[in-house]
Amino acid sequence: MEPGEFEGARHETAGQRPNILNEQYEEKVRPCIDLIDSLRSLGVEQDLALPAIAVIGDQSSGKSSVLEALSGVALPRGSGIVTRCPLELKMKKIQTEDEWYGKIKYKEVQREILQPSEVEKFIREAQDQIAGVGVGISQELISLEISSPDVPDLTLIDLPGIARVAVKGQPENIGEQIKNLIKKFITKQETINLVVVPCNVDIATTEALQMAQEVDLHGERTLGILTKPDLVDKGTEETVVRIIHNEVIDLAKGYRIVKCRGQKDITDRVSLTEALDKEKAFFEGHSHFGVLLKEGYASIPHLAEKLTLELVQHIEKSLPQLEDQIERKIAENDAALKKYGEGPPTDAADRKAFLTNKLTKFTQDIMNLSTGEDLRNGNLLSTLREEFRDWKKFLDCSGLKFNNRFETEEYETMYRGRELPGFVNYKTFEMLMQEQIEQLEEPAVKKLKEASDIVRRAFVELSQQSFTGYPNLLKIAKTKIEAIKQSQADTAESIVRTQFKMEKIVYTQDRRYTDNIQCVKVEEEKKENPHWQVYRRDTEATLRDLQWHLKSYYRITSQRLADQIPLVIRYQILQEGTLQLQREMIQLLQENDNEDHLLKEEFDIGTKRNNLVSRISRLKEAQKRVTSFN
Ligand code: GDP
Ligand code: MG
Repeated sequence: MEPGEFEGARHETAGQRPNILNEQYEEKVRPCIDLIDSLRSLGVEQDLALPAIAVIGDQSSGKSSVLEALSGVALPRGSGIVTRCPLELKMKKIQTEDEWYGKIKYKEVQREILQPSEVEKFIREAQDQIAGVGVGISQELISLEISSPDVPDLTLIDLPGIARVAVKGQPENIGEQIKNLIKKFITKQETINLVVVPCNVDIATTEALQMAQEVDLHGERTLGILTKPDLVDKGTEETVVRIIHNEVIDLAKGYRIVKCRGQKDITDRVSLTEALDKEKAFFEGHSHFGVLLKEGYASIPHLAEKLTLELVQHIEKSLPQLEDQIERKIAENDAALKKYGEGPPTDAADRKAFLTNKLTKFTQDIMNLSTGEDLRNGNLLSTLREEFRDWKKFLDCSGLKFNNRFETEEYETMYRGRELPGFVNYKTFEMLMQEQIEQLEEPAVKKLKEASDIVRRAFVELSQQSFTGYPNLLKIAKTKIEAIKQSQADTAESIVRTQFKMEKIVYTQDRRYTDNIQCVKVEEEKKENPHWQVYRRDTEATLRDLQWHLKSYYRITSQRLADQIPLVIRYQILQEGTLQLQREMIQLLQENDNEDHLLKEEFDIGTKRNNLVSRISRLKEAQKRVTSFN
């Protein structure tokens, strides 16, 4: 295609052609479209998905031609793969006296377009830069903004056509690539999907239609468009009419049929306006399709009308979601802004006070966190309690295993000394008990480390919240938390190890022991173990006694440990750790002339804060408009 070939056709975008969509807009739907337009002009698009129309279909099915006819903006088109990147065509209606104005944006590039006739050239250049010269495709979006008195306020998205086979120079999976790209766009609830199918192919096998149905199960936002009625296979016209009448593949939104400019029209420089007249004449004179025009199913103007109505319905239906979306976004941005705070003052004395406040607040928060006073930052104590329960469960399990440990034979060969049957050997009892307790030591230390990790993580998280935007302050807090965690965990470990050394001394108050063994006996006898009842051999009776002693003492010692380890964690790691962190953070204030370093903000925080503030005010304005519209 020679550049400049369609000069005549393109210039009409400059103004003489009354836009079809626009006429409809003026009459029926102005308020609705105005709302969306005013939201768009607020610049909330980056935050909110606003209604748009996307076209999908096979390569060369006529997608770009349809968009072009609807918008009055000439787009690159032809045979083979022409649309190689998603092209978002944002149209903005401006006052009649204002000039046509275009802007193209992609990647980092942003260029002004002064002439409508240049649009096509710019798009081609953009595609070459993004997807390479040739036949490659890309997910990267080209955004084309056209301001003109003759366009509707509407966003149209032109997508690459579905290719069945890769041509030379294209990757094998080009079909997949394109389909994924299309899916990304048509899945959005805010988009009306136009499925474009030429009259001369079998609609039942159209992949685009299937894809649209997949993402829009009830067909609420899918519209079928048949193109190239002039190329219909002779003899299949009635099938086409039946499709349009929704008798073949049912679509809730139905179908429209349009005739756009063919290759010959383009070569002959038929303008878009002339093309509309030709289209009208074509349908009027057609023996089969004439009726479709009368019924309002055929021609670009009828498609435009249909689309407008659909769009308005769609907008009205999406408003509640839009409101939710706005609300969510405001909350999100508010939260982000809160995290950044207001920024430090510039005056030296004020800065000192600001830092003091910040640190005091942090130490208070840390204290509240560790005492469970303030549950806003997650309930640390409840997480720890779970760990403690876990520890108790472990002790119980270990006890069960220990109780069922030996059979009579094993006892006889391994543990019986010189004593006569009926005597329980205290040394054996003591040794077995010590062995068992020893097995609890490493798990106890492990639990301690896990708990100390949990505490450290919670503290770090809190400091991240408290010192957002102050990297130096955050770094210092993190370093301190790390060091304190290490030293407290060491102290705690040595306490636990000492405890286990003491536990090697088998001891409890006499009274406690006798009470306990009494309980065990009652429990065991209730179990009515037939073996114990018969006392076939004396050693069995002895073993039974020994088991009772072991069980009873384990119960006492495991209860002691079940409390002791959590106590060490709560005292040494949580309480002492918190106090030390508080002390060290407050000490930062005493180190002179430290404020500038500590209060150094992230380099771009000011910009971030300003962006958030203006974003929120835009969103609030949008919210006001949407609410008052309802
Ligand atoms: P896309 O690849 O789906 O975007 O298809 P295009 O819009 O680029 O159109 C492919 C070719 O079909 C172009 O040469 C168009 O001129 C031609 N074309 C589009 N609509 C019609 C039509 O209604 N009749 C005829 N004869 N040709 C058409
Ligand atoms: Mg195209």
